[in-house]
Amino acid sequence: MQGKAQDSETITFLGTGGARFMIISQLLASGGLWLNLGGTEILVDPGPGCIIQATKRKLRAEKLSAIIVSHRHLDHSADVNVMVEAMTEGGQRHHGTLFAPSDALEKDPIIFSYLKDRLDRVTALQEGMSYSTGNVVFSTPVRHLHPVETYGLVFKTSKHKFSIITDTSYFDGLEQSYGGELLIINMTFLEPRSRSKNDELPTDHLSVPDAERLIRELKPRAAILTHFGMTVWKAKPWEVAEQLSQRTGTRVMAARDGMTFDLAELDKTEGQTAQ
Ligand SMILES: [Zn+2]
Repeated sequence: MQGKAQDSETITFLGTGGARFMIISQLLASGGLWLNLGGTEILVDPGPGCIIQATKRKLRAEKLSAIIVSHRHLDHSADVNVMVEAMTEGGQRHHGTLFAPSDALEKDPIIFSYLKDRLDRVTALQEGMSYSTGNVVFSTPVRHLHPVETYGLVFKTSKHKFSIITDTSYFDGLEQSYGGELLIINMTFLEPRSRSKNDELPTDHLSVPDAERLIRELKPRAAILTHFGMTVWKAKPWEVAEQLSQRTGTRVMAARDGMTFDLAELDKTEGQTAQ
């Protein structure tokens, strides 16, 4: 049964790749997440290729209310300029809000100043704050453990609550900041890596054991894994997800490039599957 488009709440994965080697090879796309929450459309983390992934799927940037950047790393922000260009219809219409941490907006900003001027608003994200855009409220409960200022997101609509746990090292208490019926987890590594002192090896990302711990603690109705680095990709994310489902008793899915998840799935009785 199909609800009216205005009522439906969907999340489209414009990419499932994460971290530098996946991004520079584009083995997996890196366009971020496109949310349509009861008619309020929000783009989260427009990484490289977002404009291509979005237009290919006939997602219309002029309908966006906001673009949210969780942090300034390239795989989350590279296409922010072109997406603002699209959101404002090539500059013909002042429109929309850009949300990003202050270190993405101040020195060495991710957005060109001429494009920034076309937005209605630019808002610096802060720890423990709530924001609204259209009919959606979201919050940035905690600053993540990541080399740049980084926030995960908790969204509340009239029907659902869900969390996007973006890049971070696991830290005690991480799970206390998140919740909802759905958890989206940026699970970049297969195994935990200790923090490196130099920048030679990418660290500060969640691994499979971290994701398992979060799912066990938070017991969402479903979890979707994404932002896969090379080690997870080689281990086949859908197989990793299946193992996590069996171990936790929670329905765990691996996102696929272009996949759209309908939040109405969360309201179905247990035992029904998405795919
Ligand atoms: Zn990052």
